[in-house]
Amino acid sequence: MAQLSTQHAQLLQHGDFLQLTLSNPDSLPSSQFTLPNGTTVSILDTGVICFEPVLCESDTKDIVLSCGVHGNETAPIEICAELVKDLLTGQLQLKHRLLVLFGNPAAINASTREITENLNRLFSGHHSMGAGLINAERKRAKALEEYVSRFYQEVRVTNVVPRNRYLYDLHTAIRGSRFEKFAVYPFLHNKPWQKAQFEFLQACDVTTVLLMQTPASTFSYYASNTHGADAFTIELGKVQPFGRNDMQRFAKARAALRQLVSEAAVSTVHFDEQQFQLYQVYRAINKQTQEFKLHFADDVENFTAYPQGTLLATDGDIEYRVEREGEAIIFPNAKVAIGQRAMLMVVPTTVAHNIA
Ligand SMILES: [Zn+2]
Repeated sequence: MAQLSTQHAQLLQHGDFLQLTLSNPDSLPSSQFTLPNGTTVSILDTGVICFEPVLCESDTKDIVLSCGVHGNETAPIEICAELVKDLLTGQLQLKHRLLVLFGNPAAINASTREITENLNRLFSGHHSMGAGLINAERKRAKALEEYVSRFYQEVRVTNVVPRNRYLYDLHTAIRGSRFEKFAVYPFLHNKPWQKAQFEFLQACDVTTVLLMQTPASTFSYYASNTHGADAFTIELGKVQPFGRNDMQRFAKARAALRQLVSEAAVSTVHFDEQQFQLYQVYRAINKQTQEFKLHFADDVENFTAYPQGTLLATDGDIEYRVEREGEAIIFPNAKVAIGQRAMLMVVPTTVAHNIA
């Protein structure tokens, strides 16, 4: 690992890893140093920083926090940047191994969701399928997978097995939501859902959870399926420009994440399904032609439900209507590329039959 340049060292002395990342959006030479409290800090790439505290024997957690996978989703970037700053300056004492990822620095600089391709559709090897590694997002997805793999596999303690892996990929939604915050629980291939994870989500003020039933090309499914991590996509609210987020709205998530990395356990309340809104996917609607059109207003909120028979979308000659009672829309986006998902339809569900 290289020495830090003077300019880089100065930024890091103030804990400003986000600024260092955004000034070097394409790459950053790797470097390593030790904080006065003994924590080893490894900068592995632009937007990729790993913290390894002097571990106590009982510690078993390896935590990945990611933000900025979509460049314009600013609130999680602000939350993670602050957390990194407080760790670098010694204001927050780290308890567990932690990898923090700022997913798409070039898109953050451009204040756009993506530069050429949706980064959160490129994981689990999708980056190399089809046309292959033809753009920056595809290369970044591959690199992020490698950093996560190394982080989970190269643990320098040998006495604690098995270790527990976590990945929380933090987002904000494009549109408003009937339930402001919600999490996507990736498909577990029929393994049980984890009570402790619902409890952690509730501590983050997230009580709406969408349970997926199929594999996906998202970061959270990748961590869950490839590494056995407890992994989630967490939507913390609606997209706002930098500095325009009402951080009060994120206070619980911010506090729970800080507690997660700095304490042995997060304060939670016992899981009670009645306090959650649980949904499962009923069907995905993919855009098949350029004529794809949504038949509801642009600002309709996620989880809005319409009466059975309501026309939701047309795609050339195809009509999509509400088929089931309680069926609700989520992530509608008519502007996606042909062949991509334009909207998900979800229905209420329960986890009682398969929870551990
Ligand atoms: Zn997002």
